[in-house]
Amino acid sequence: MRLDGFNKKTGIFIITYHILLVVAWILYFSFYTPSVAMIVATVILYFVTGLSITGGYHRLYSHTTYKTNPVVEAVILFFASMSVQSSALRWSFEHRLHHAYVDTDQDPYSINRGFWYAHILWLFKKPAEIDRKVVADLAKNPLVAFQHKHYLACMLTSNIIMFLFVGWLLGDYLGAFVLSWWTRLFMLHHSTWFINSLAHFWGTQSFSQEQTAVDNYIISLLTFGEGYHNYHHTFANDYRNGIRWYHFDPTKWLIWALNKMGLAHGLKKVNHYHIKERLVAARKNETLEKIAESFESRKEELTVYISKASETICTNLARARKLVEEYTRYKKTKQASAEILKQLKTEIKAVKRTIREDWKTCQEFSKHIMNGKDPIQQ
Ligand SMILES: [Zn+2]
Ligand SMILES: [Zn+2]
Repeated sequence: MRLDGFNKKTGIFIITYHILLVVAWILYFSFYTPSVAMIVATVILYFVTGLSITGGYHRLYSHTTYKTNPVVEAVILFFASMSVQSSALRWSFEHRLHHAYVDTDQDPYSINRGFWYAHILWLFKKPAEIDRKVVADLAKNPLVAFQHKHYLACMLTSNIIMFLFVGWLLGDYLGAFVLSWWTRLFMLHHSTWFINSLAHFWGTQSFSQEQTAVDNYIISLLTFGEGYHNYHHTFANDYRNGIRWYHFDPTKWLIWALNKMGLAHGLKKVNHYHIKERLVAARKNETLEKIAESFESRKEELTVYISKASETICTNLARARKLVEEYTRYKKTKQASAEILKQLKTEIKAVKRTIREDWKTCQEFSKHIMNGKDPIQQ
């Protein structure tokens, strides 16, 4: 692969840091056994610095999915500086380009240039000049501007402070250096890079098939909840990436907890019915494509079936949404009698049941088509 404009500084840093780390591990584990306390400290720092990237650089700065106060921002920027992933301004600039031009040549870490390019090799390229228009809002933020201007000092200071603190606290400076600093950094770098590589490579595409982002529970375990990347690329202004309660998304839980503590506000969340509509549309498009590709002789009948089924679900979704809004409004303003509220509740339940059943049938139909079987003729 050709790399135009090799970024010497970063390239040499990344290569040297990986080679030396392997040597450090061999030497360290040959002579020492890490204490449980040191392992715990490493894991805690891995989580804190990781969440400062996903909850700070990503969901706060790049996508402005919530707002917070300057004290929380300062804490985020301190730990994010420890993550050695460039300043919030640069990170967000590149990430906003990634979303705007995903999978094209203007995407800084496009998966279409190869898995390893998206994972790490893109860092070997000279970084593009930051276009202030893309991050005008962030450039005006004094804390972000300060961290950008003094990034090297912020990065070194935060790391040195934490290394000295952990070394002093646990009476083990060597362990603090090899494990809580270096190994933690290595794990964090690769988990962040996985979002650009694995999360565009291995998983399902329930919300949109127009771009390469995928949803994958396992990737979420490695990336503090960022593995629901297909959803994220579809609804980037949602503070959640994993929308179900059982989706592993610690970043979402952190933002939610900050909100409950009064430290975050204005959390953006995409409407439930809108998400469902998108799911139905994506499933329909995927099925239609397969019908056109593999069911030439039965194309018309199958196309009519899936189109009608999707339309019915969407009509009922719009109806359920309207009824729920009506019910909430009546309840709030106390404008309706208990009898009317009861009727509305029953109606909502019935529409939701119909949606569930229709969606199940629609999914089964689609599954058959995707497997190359004709569901109507069976
Ligand atoms: Zn992406
Ligand atoms: Zn994003």
